[in-house]
Amino acid sequence: MNLNEFMAQNYYDFHNPSKPLKINKEIFLKRAKYLGPEYILSSEYKGSRQRVTFYHTKCGKEWAPTAEEVMYKHSHCPCTSKFRNPDYGRNRVDKFLESHNCKRISEYKDMKHPIKIFSEKCKHIFLRTPDILLNQKAGAKCPICRKKPARFQISNFMKEEIKWRKSKGFTQKDVGDFIHCCDHLISDFENGHKKPSKKQIAEIKSYMDALTIGG
Ligand SMILES: [Zn+2]
Ligand SMILES: [Zn+2]
Repeated sequence: MNLNEFMAQNYYDFHNPSKPLKINKEIFLKRAKYLGPEYILSSEYKGSRQRVTFYHTKCGKEWAPTAEEVMYKHSHCPCTSKFRNPDYGRNRVDKFLESHNCKRISEYKDMKHPIKIFSEKCKHIFLRTPDILLNQKAGAKCPICRKKPARFQISNFMKEEIKWRKSKGFTQKDVGDFIHCCDHLISDFENGHKKPSKKQIAEIKSYMDALTIGG
């Protein structure tokens, strides 16, 4: 490139600090190139302090930053902000829940809207905002279990029942079906949150005896 060609380029001004850079649409577009083909400029360029409008094909929304933000800050459509992007938040919440033996059972809107959480461990359902869930120490702890008074001692009987149930491959629901109660109650018995009554013990015991002898 010879000097004339170089000077012909508007970049000349950029390299000559004594002259303020005169930016035109062409330069603006060159500088906006980092945005890639998914952004379509749908307004005129009217100066660096003025807003320009892009149509963002990925999210289908218009984005109107100042031309300066594009040229000097390399901004992007807000939909790409990982904290505002619902997919990002949802994935983060779901992965976190999975690693804490929990499941999300209601729609995720954003970090501030409570979601319903099902705990596989205690079978409780509780509400919590993703914000608290992810950012507080006890965020993933079931509030129902935490509120419960000191656990009852897990009775020797229930310890035996757990051993028997697992050796037979029965679920808590199976045992619940045997004695006509729900699996939540069996879960509470097994983890000591509740005590089975004498009648319930007798019922479970009769199934244990019958199904153990029978193989
Ligand atoms: Zn967008
Ligand atoms: Zn719980």
